[in-house]
Amino acid sequence: MSNPGWSDWAAVEKIDPELADAVMDEVHRENSKIELIASENFSSPAVLAALGTPLTNKYAEGYPGKRYYGGCEHVDVAENLAIERAKALFGADHVNVQPHAGAQANAAAFFAFLKPGDTFMGMDLAMGGHLTHGSRVNFTGKLFNVVSYGVRESDERIDLDEVRDIARREMPKMIVAGATAYSRIWDFAAFRSIADEVGAIFLVDAAHFIGLVAGGAHPNPVEHADVVTCTTHKTLRGPRGAMIMCKEEHASAIDKSVFPGWQGGPMMHSIAAKAVAFKEAAGEGFRAYAQQVVANARAMADALTEQGLRIVSGGTDNHLMLVDLRPVGLTGKEAEARLDAVGITVNKNAIPYDPEKPFIASGLRVGTPAATTAGMKEGEIREVARLIARTLKDDSEVVRGEVSAQVKELTNRFRPYPDVV
Ligand SMILES: *Cc1c(COP(=O)(O)O)cnc(C)c1O
Repeated sequence: MSNPGWSDWAAVEKIDPELADAVMDEVHRENSKIELIASENFSSPAVLAALGTPLTNKYAEGYPGKRYYGGCEHVDVAENLAIERAKALFGADHVNVQPHAGAQANAAAFFAFLKPGDTFMGMDLAMGGHLTHGSRVNFTGKLFNVVSYGVRESDERIDLDEVRDIARREMPKMIVAGATAYSRIWDFAAFRSIADEVGAIFLVDAAHFIGLVAGGAHPNPVEHADVVTCTTHKTLRGPRGAMIMCKEEHASAIDKSVFPGWQGGPMMHSIAAKAVAFKEAAGEGFRAYAQQVVANARAMADALTEQGLRIVSGGTDNHLMLVDLRPVGLTGKEAEARLDAVGITVNKNAIPYDPEKPFIASGLRVGTPAATTAGMKEGEIREVARLIARTLKDDSEVVRGEVSAQVKELTNRFRPYPDVV
């Protein structure tokens, strides 16, 4: 059974050459660029293979042992493997592995505790928070009363006194910690005590750093929070998807809110791939990976600082950093385009107290999870930092050519899918 008939890439090429070209072009792009988007990663051949299985065929509304469809005995095994592995990996009482993506996990978790019009507190999008933490254009901002906290202007770190003051004044029903662009460790215990003081549910959205938690390179929010939501495709390196972990007392509310509250049938192929990813994340290799991601991020922040760029809050404790581009006189939009032209992929990002509009932005978000999966260590990362700085400081054809050649040399040695020709 090592080469099952269903997994047949040649069939895709034969039936749909246009689509096959798009897929192969994307794989070549992943192999030939330096990927520094902090929310991206490269999943393993085993995870990809589990995704491409006939489990996509099965309707399995409900939960293992309590389904609304017959024939679920084998997908029950797959879902239970995912659940048990996640529980063991993070020390969670209860896990729901069905959320299709991070935003859906947050929707389900929010509605397990809040009704429309209720007040919750989250980090401001402009300060690093996620859209689903109360942005006006997101359902969270439309349906709930949002109170936001940010970072101090002086050191660009979360001001826990401010968080406590806002919580005492506004009495939110839920407090959300977690972000998409915050490079420092969260004080989960302090958030917990603030939530307890005002009687709020404490939710941690660990979408970004959950893989570091799995690898022992970041404090574990599961020990402090009522509920932890996370994606499975960012630092955790699994399939695109998400999960929710919670204390036993919230298990039933969470499960009901995911199904039938927010979703229909679970994506069993994706759940199977989550199980594979959790098994990989429990191995020694993943511990080394997570430590390397953090070491690489530190090396990147140090090297960019040496090159005269400013790192928001002065550095990083996790897998990402925000780079303030004002010292080199560029906007995020310009810098993103310039780096893209030499084969370095990053995203523009607002920095705290950004004078520019979000679509222009004064910063870049730089992360090391994907480049670390491709095999880079501190030495290569420092080289990448020098290439970034050179590109940002000099827009000449000569520099563009030289940097592109060095990027090619690096991606020839460090690429996610080396067997693809
Ligand atoms: C990425 C992210 C999400 C959303 O994940 P999707 O899978 O893109 O829906 C939610 N919260 C945070 C903090 C994130 O970084």
